[in-house]
Amino acid sequence: MAKVAVISDIHGNLPALEATVAAIRVEGIAEVLCLGDVVGYGADPGPCLEKVWETCSVLVRGNHEEAVLDPATARSFNPVARVAIEWTRRVLDWDHFGMMKAMRSVFEGGDRLTLVHDSPVPTSGGGYLHDARTAAIAFRGFDSRVCIVGHTHVPIAFVAPHGSSGDGLEPGDIETHELVDGEEFAWPREGRAILNPGSVGQPRDGDPRASFAVIDLDRGTFGLRRVEYDVARAQASLRRVGLPSPLVDRLAIGA
Ligand code: ZN
Repeated sequence: MAKVAVISDIHGNLPALEATVAAIRVEGIAEVLCLGDVVGYGADPGPCLEKVWETCSVLVRGNHEEAVLDPATARSFNPVARVAIEWTRRVLDWDHFGMMKAMRSVFEGGDRLTLVHDSPVPTSGGGYLHDARTAAIAFRGFDSRVCIVGHTHVPIAFVAPHGSSGDGLEPGDIETHELVDGEEFAWPREGRAILNPGSVGQPRDGDPRASFAVIDLDRGTFGLRRVEYDVARAQASLRRVGLPSPLVDRLAIGA
């Protein structure tokens, strides 16, 4: 495995996905891994499913796919998210449902890589790995050197010290690193890492540009990439299908 692109949390935002895939192609990267939440919130869930289906070599299922497939799980969603899930369920066809069912809940690529949408272990508060406390728990949930997650829509890296299995890790043992557009984050050779590429279709770190990452497992680097896309086009699509206005507004500010 040389350089591989990692995308997550596309959320039915086709202009953001198209700009991201174009940027990946410009870099000459052939393989793309997807961490789920291809649908939900956005106006183009079907075209986004079709595009990741043809583009990605691994597809992990997110909680928004789960909520479309199993209405009972959508009950824990906030009202705006639930409206979008119910709308998404109505507009998708059987092929799209087949694609979501075919996604795996976790991908284990030997001793080097684990991919999961939210967290490799159940954590309190919905599996959001936002800080060292939740990351310390998550390090117990996988055996590989690296685990890549999405779900928070915020790019970040957590590093645990040398070869630790995760048992007995305290929050104070975890290093937290902000990821910066265009910079290659290198995790220590002897360490283990939890990495998050941010969100393609609904960034929440104050930067409205689409977010993805390029991982090089041989060199031990994870490089964040931010991509401009046509936000106004995504917003117009949301308005046209009548999805709630908070979903329109947040795209402009990346929140
Ligand atoms: Zn998401």
